[in-house]
Amino acid sequence: MRKISELRLALVGCGALGSAVLQLIGRLGFGEIHIIDGDIVTESNLRTQVLFEIGDTKIINYKADLAKNKLEDINSETRFQSSPFYLTEKNAEETLKGSDIVIDTTDNTKTRLTVNKVCVLKGIPLLEIMAKKKEAMVHMVSGENACFNCLYSASKMIDNECASIDPSLPPISAGVALNMLLSFLNEEIAPKTVLISADGFNVSRLKIKRLETCDVCSKRRDIKVKENGFIQVCGGGIKFSFSRRVMLHDVYSKLVEYGELEGDNNYIILRNPGRSVLISDYGDLLFTGYELEEAKKFIESIKPIILASQPSP
Ligand SMILES: [Zn+2]
Repeated sequence: MRKISELRLALVGCGALGSAVLQLIGRLGFGEIHIIDGDIVTESNLRTQVLFEIGDTKIINYKADLAKNKLEDINSETRFQSSPFYLTEKNAEETLKGSDIVIDTTDNTKTRLTVNKVCVLKGIPLLEIMAKKKEAMVHMVSGENACFNCLYSASKMIDNECASIDPSLPPISAGVALNMLLSFLNEEIAPKTVLISADGFNVSRLKIKRLETCDVCSKRRDIKVKENGFIQVCGGGIKFSFSRRVMLHDVYSKLVEYGELEGDNNYIILRNPGRSVLISDYGDLLFTGYELEEAKKFIESIKPIILASQPSP
């Protein structure tokens, strides 16, 4: 059993569940905690995302960077690292490399399936925390039990895209997750799957069988890159990732014809009446006020500009 101070933990998704969990595990004394999320903080997040406050929304702030700064004020012994970009099939393996354990608290199934694939293939223990409306589930993927793909096939409850969450669920789920994480690290016998219902309040253990035909944990195939890149997010936004760094000062002047521009070294915002696109230096785009087809058209038109921008060696 390794000491907790020697372990490197990665957390994917710093929203309601992620920030509740980070507040607890950020204090435990892990060697390193790596926070991955390409989203920015807005006022609508403040109701459920307990790490953030009103002042954080006044300028563009990435959730991953903010979480890192706040946790550094709480615990000076853990190294905190932030990756303010979205995890995709292209960058997941590289981003999660070297992690001893991964916690997934993201808000979309596509990312979960990607994280699950990498963790199962690389043998990294994965703690899944998910919530939808009035139900939450915490599931540990380690050893030979059901992976997220098995679980997803068995229960659509976990298809949590764009579902609002009962505000009592993030702190309760975070407590359950902390208990399961510590039991796992201490090699104690503990439930692998816990279901929490905020309706009438009920916490129960579940037994989820591994799917014999699961194309992730049964066959352990190689990770296939399947990149159409678009993710619809809560609140009507659309995310897209080029999965490559972009030299923003190179592309800035070439984007002038697409709208009104503002930005700094880390992002560009392109504004048009009723809509905007945020482009981060990690090559992530966040569309607000766009239909999916319009976002796709926009990506096609700016692709040559982005691909021509090469970070200097
Ligand atoms: Zn499976």
